[in-house]
Amino acid sequence: MKIITVARDMQRTIRAEKRAGKSVGFVPTMGYLHEGHRRLLTNARRENDLVVLSIFVNPTQFGPNEDFETYPRDMNRDEKIAEEAGVDFIFFPAVQEMYHDEPSVNVTVQNRTAVLCGRKRPGHFDGVATVLTKLFHIIQPDKAYFGMKDAQQIAVIDGLIKDFHFDIELVPVPTVREEDGLAKSSRNVYLHQEERREAKELYQSLQLAKRAIEDGVASPARIAGMIREHLEASTSGEVDYIEIYSYPDLEPLEKLKGKIIIALAVKFKQARLIDNITMALS
Ligand code: AMP
Repeated sequence: MKIITVARDMQRTIRAEKRAGKSVGFVPTMGYLHEGHRRLLTNARRENDLVVLSIFVNPTQFGPNEDFETYPRDMNRDEKIAEEAGVDFIFFPAVQEMYHDEPSVNVTVQNRTAVLCGRKRPGHFDGVATVLTKLFHIIQPDKAYFGMKDAQQIAVIDGLIKDFHFDIELVPVPTVREEDGLAKSSRNVYLHQEERREAKELYQSLQLAKRAIEDGVASPARIAGMIREHLEASTSGEVDYIEIYSYPDLEPLEKLKGKIIIALAVKFKQARLIDNITMALS
């Protein structure tokens, strides 16, 4: 496994490998790797000749009052996990390497961002789309792996890949969870003991909603109300949003049908947690 910090070096290395006929699987992350990231890496390892992991805490996707400075980082540990997962290259650039000088061009996302985290975190998906555009050009992957935990991110990247004609297959990977159902996240370390116990209720509330829908409840407002009631009764966190849309278009629905997403965000003292489920309804 090799660690590369310079974009041009990474680009040339990949170009040579691709010329030799190798397929490239790419897993972009912000590091502090956990089982969720590991699943993306395992899938990439299985399906490609080469696996590239990027570790970059991208400043442009953080808002002014968000946790960019304090975002957890542990490169030594990440290296070990990457090595075990069979990664060939870690691309690990400094902020100045990705964003030198005043930028001439930034990517602005037009669609699928007026709801969910996009509404709550203005500019977040512009930052994601901008850094991924850079990373896609540097890594030139055949396949790129993203977790369904960040389902809106997948919807946005789907648009980015199509609109900008990237010759990349987007591979969505199901959310990896703790035993009690909490979605694995680098930010779970921020949770206090009691909050950690409560955090399983996010997934519990989604399961409750799923059962209600399977039992015939077809009103999005009723389902959202049930989730809110459950979360308010069982956690000390503040509900940031509970929203239900078509997926991946993220359009509002009068009645639940087709492919849908039920997504929520809850703010605890030091951590804002998100979770979602998707369902295919007839
Ligand atoms: P992050 O480092 O949080 O930016 O995440 C990097 C990638 O890992 C993104 O595609 C995430 O959606 C994915 N990911 C994060 N947590 C999980 C999880 N619990 N299960 C599956 N994928 C995840």
